[in-house]
Amino acid sequence: MTVPVAIVGGGIGGLALALELHAAGVECRVFESVPRLSAVGVGINLLPHATRQLDRLGLLPQLSAAAVSTRESVFFNRFGQHIHTEPTGVAAGYRWPQFSIHRGDLQAVLADAVRARLGPDALVTGHTCVDAAEDSTGVTLTFALPDGTTTTQRAAAVVGCDGIHSAIRKQLHPDEGEPVYSGYTMWRGVTVHEPIRSGASMIRAGWLATGKLVVYPIRDAVDAAGRQLVNWVVEIETPQHTGRDWNRAGRAEDFLGHFADWHFDWLDVPALLRGAESVLEYPMVDQDPLPWWGTARVTLLGDAAHPMVPRGSNGGGQAILDAAALAKALRTHATIPDAFAAYEQLRRPATAAVVRANRTNPPDAILREVYERTGDRPFDTIGEVITESELDAILTNYKRTAGYSLTALSEA
Ligand SMILES: Cc1cc2nc3c(=O)[nH]c(=O)nc-3n(C[C@H](O)[C@H](O)[C@H](O)COP(=O)(O)OP(=O)(O)OC[C@H]3O[C@@H](n4cnc5c(N)ncnc54)[C@H](O)[C@@H]3O)c2cc1C
Repeated sequence: MTVPVAIVGGGIGGLALALELHAAGVECRVFESVPRLSAVGVGINLLPHATRQLDRLGLLPQLSAAAVSTRESVFFNRFGQHIHTEPTGVAAGYRWPQFSIHRGDLQAVLADAVRARLGPDALVTGHTCVDAAEDSTGVTLTFALPDGTTTTQRAAAVVGCDGIHSAIRKQLHPDEGEPVYSGYTMWRGVTVHEPIRSGASMIRAGWLATGKLVVYPIRDAVDAAGRQLVNWVVEIETPQHTGRDWNRAGRAEDFLGHFADWHFDWLDVPALLRGAESVLEYPMVDQDPLPWWGTARVTLLGDAAHPMVPRGSNGGGQAILDAAALAKALRTHATIPDAFAAYEQLRRPATAAVVRANRTNPPDAILREVYERTGDRPFDTIGEVITESELDAILTNYKRTAGYSLTALSEA
């Protein structure tokens, strides 16, 4: 049997695409490598441009129940001095919230919706794509199965949503260079903790040279005391010593020393970091934007198309925007090659700009500016270091590049 559209990878982008195609009346099937979906990863953020798409898909009630609706984004230096606060999501005037959510919870909401709307067979697990052979009428996919055998599937079109190690991307671009290391590594964990500040605050503090911290809650009221599951990330300049693997275990002794004296009246950072049961480590790498993504019947989406350093809360969101754009292209163009070409024309430059902005001036560029201008020393008043309009310009420019400025979404 030929599947109209085969989606390779049942992560955030692949599942969002299945829901978008279903809504557009395009048949599809998702082929996922892992034998069973489980809650891997830690926290992820969805900004209003992405939650708007998920609202269109009718998923906001389920996501609101699982996520924390983030109300403010706050910046501090490594001495705990306040630099800037800006409201986020609905509190900033958007029609859609910003969600901070466990990646496993997000994937579960999407997978449940795929099974409920497209049928139980729409998401096939335990299928690792190892080859995509395209001809003039379609594509033959080969999958490795958990028992060591292989199976094939014919499809009219294929979308590689298979993440940072995409097999489809490697096949389309075999001579692409190695991932680009940014010069710093991140360690991540989750800790059950009392609400910090508003209980819905995304906090960024310090700077990469000496140690940067990102903290936000991802589940509310996880115990009778009303504590939250709090996601934290530390990032430190360091020579690269690991390959990229979202599930690699890290060691607390590699980073705790950088935060040993971070005892603030708003947070005891060493206690937060030590409170996690386990730690994950990830080298901050991305890849140079590709000069082209796909062919007449095979294309890429999400991290497979545009892996980016996770500094602007945009990895999941851009995959969700890709999914909406591709479904629209398939709905409005007569042929698959025309639809894929239109999708790539729209999304390749847009996402390349985000990849580049995440390297240079994502929101945490505010921390770099303060670090450099103060020579990494405490300040008397922040106004002497950086003006409100400079702070606003950094944040507004990034929002514009990534497609979630208040103006753009108000007009949408
Ligand atoms: C295990 C894991 C943990 C993560 N943890 C975090 C996190 O803590 N914070 C964060 O911000 N982002 C995390 N991410 C990345 C985040 O999900 C993506 O950056 C973003 O959501 C874009 O989604 P995507 O669908 O392009 O890729 P992903 O969500 O990474 O999905 C790719 C999917 O493709 C599957 N796959 C890979 N190769 C094949 C193949 N050959 N055949 C079939 N299926 C294949 C993978 O199993 C995965 O389900 C994680 C990703 C993974 C896979």
